[in-house]
Amino acid sequence: MQKKNIDWANLSFGYQPTDFRFEARWKDGKWDEGKLTDNPNIELSEAACVFHYAQCCFEGLKAYETEKGEIVTFRPEENGKRMFNTAKRLEMPSFPVEKFVKAVEDVVRANAAWVPPHGTGATLYIRPVMIGSGPQIGVAPAHEFIFRIFVMPVGSYFKGAVKPIKLKVAEYDRAAPHGTGNIKAGLNYAMSLYPTMEAHREGYAENVYLDPATRTFVEETGGTNIMFVDKEGTIVIPSSPSILPSITRRSLVEVARDILGYKVEERPVRFDEIKDMQEMAVIGTAAVLAPVGMVHSKDGDIYLPTGMDKIGPVSAKLRETLTGIQMGDIEDVKGWVHKIDLNK
Ligand SMILES: *Cc1c(COP(=O)(O)O)cnc(C)c1O
Repeated sequence: MQKKNIDWANLSFGYQPTDFRFEARWKDGKWDEGKLTDNPNIELSEAACVFHYAQCCFEGLKAYETEKGEIVTFRPEENGKRMFNTAKRLEMPSFPVEKFVKAVEDVVRANAAWVPPHGTGATLYIRPVMIGSGPQIGVAPAHEFIFRIFVMPVGSYFKGAVKPIKLKVAEYDRAAPHGTGNIKAGLNYAMSLYPTMEAHREGYAENVYLDPATRTFVEETGGTNIMFVDKEGTIVIPSSPSILPSITRRSLVEVARDILGYKVEERPVRFDEIKDMQEMAVIGTAAVLAPVGMVHSKDGDIYLPTGMDKIGPVSAKLRETLTGIQMGDIEDVKGWVHKIDLNK
């Protein structure tokens, strides 16, 4: 198969239409079979529920080319399950997990020429999205929905060496107690755009959100979970019902505990504990793991002992091991890597 003529090493994280996408439609109380289409556009009623009442949700995962030239994805059934649960909470029709995984396979296979070659650091980003497409003016769920999966090649989050980032403690909340923080809904992002841009304007990569009820515990950033390494070398993961259940985080916990033999604690973490931590990192599909060098709050700046130049040793080990498994360079003892049969 002839790959596309792309400067793989210099890709950014941006939209680019590729050859095929999967689309399924929900109408009269059921999903149709769904099919691949080459049309990147969707035509919608001006009254589509998504435009007014933000009935939409999404997922994000990646496909990789291994050294042997196979194309694989990482735990796609976990994204399928999470989207299933998200849809339920938004009164949207859940898309069956098995069909989700098959649709991911079909789209990646159809766009195999767009999967970045092994060793370039680039990956194929896979974006499933569901919208309430039916017209709706009274406040109620739509009666028609569109589910799509499209893909695009994206560059490595870090160009060259992995460099620590700076975070800011947001003056705003990301999620309400008993709200929608634990689902991947577009609405969680709409209201975070303002604080995100504010953080960027001030020179920070992202916001750290605290628990909305007491503002004493660390939750996550706008689009990633957080982990720490404490003085004893234990990996500490903040837990809260309003944190999004990151698949990268859950995988790193298992890598740390079962493969690398670290002690892992998942518990509420007070903001004032950060000053005693050895390492801090943000984790999610886009960057996998990005080290944090500094956290700014209105009470002053906290510098992690690992500084602003390099990633800490535990974070580095975790990052290398997980990306090694994902790219097929380290044995997949967990059975997480999902091979795509290109000859179907
Ligand atoms: C998607 C997302 C993450 C990361 O989840 P992964 O499954 O690891 O990609 C973390 N936090 C938020 C708020 C998210 O939307």
